[in-house]
Amino acid sequence: MTNSGKHLIVLSGPSGSGKDTLVQHLIERHPEIKVSISATTRAIRPGEKEGVNYYYMTVPEFEQKLADGEILEHTCYCGNYYGTPKSEVDARIMAGINVVLVIEVEGATNIRRLYPEAKLIFVQPPSFDELEHRLRCRGTESEEAIQKRMARAREELSFAKDYNYRLVNDSLDECVEELYQIITE
Ligand code: ADP
Ligand code: 5GP
Repeated sequence: MTNSGKHLIVLSGPSGSGKDTLVQHLIERHPEIKVSISATTRAIRPGEKEGVNYYYMTVPEFEQKLADGEILEHTCYCGNYYGTPKSEVDARIMAGINVVLVIEVEGATNIRRLYPEAKLIFVQPPSFDELEHRLRCRGTESEEAIQKRMARAREELSFAKDYNYRLVNDSLDECVEELYQIITE
């Protein structure tokens, strides 16, 4: 390993805690920061775009990429594959560009093993009720998917202590600023 990952930022947190919203605001204000686009086998949501939110693919396509060694880390989350393509990360961090990965806890653990200096940040909702409220208001998931994500959220929150930083996403603006401070400190 020739790069310890000091330009790699991992953002995790329960679905609905606001990770994507935070990152969108972050890169609007600081376009020099790059966000890694993951590969996934989950269905595209209304409003999402190929190559912008994710690279959407079938299970055989994803498994071929794994076999070809093109995926840095991956997991199975609520029945779908998600993985970070090496091409989103390696050249950029070697060039000193800050790259943000929005990935779940298992992926974060794997990244820490590969890149010990990566900054691991856990985004917490202000409360569990607020998390459920945000997930429902987003209106992108079926009731079954919401239940799965809420159950998974309870497990995920117990991993917050293993992260280098914990951010409570209450006021969006303040949270974006705190995130930027951590990335650039
Ligand atoms: P995640 O990427 O963690 O799954 P999203 O970014 O999709 O979460 O946010 C879930 C919902 O919560 C969205 O509808 C978003 O607009 C809303 N949201 C995000 N951050 C805040 C905040 N600080 N205050 C209120 N609503 C928020
Ligand atoms: P969603 O379906 O809501 O977009 O994402 C579900 C979960 O998968 C989120 O916690 C998200 O952070 C995580 N995720 C997205 N891409 C990746 C990835 O490449 N690797 C891992 N390990 N998790 C990912």
